[in-house]
Amino acid sequence: MAAVPTPHTRCPTCSERGPWLGSPTAPFCSDRCKLIDFGRWANQSYTISEPLRPEHFREYEEIPDDLDPDEPESI
Ligand SMILES: [Zn+2]
Repeated sequence: MAAVPTPHTRCPTCSERGPWLGSPTAPFCSDRCKLIDFGRWANQSYTISEPLRPEHFREYEEIPDDLDPDEPESI
């Protein structure tokens, strides 16, 4: 029985060729390249989402004093 050779592929991060498909970090050659690629992706999504600003919390600070949540509802 001839052993089936693992096809060599190119690492998306560093373009190194090797049998990466057989490794747990596939399609990357190493954990380092996998993390680098994930970091790029995460940075892109962070630029899309709006950062939290103080204005977003202001409405919660301006609850009127006469609002009493413990007051029973009048029927
Ligand atoms: Zn790599």
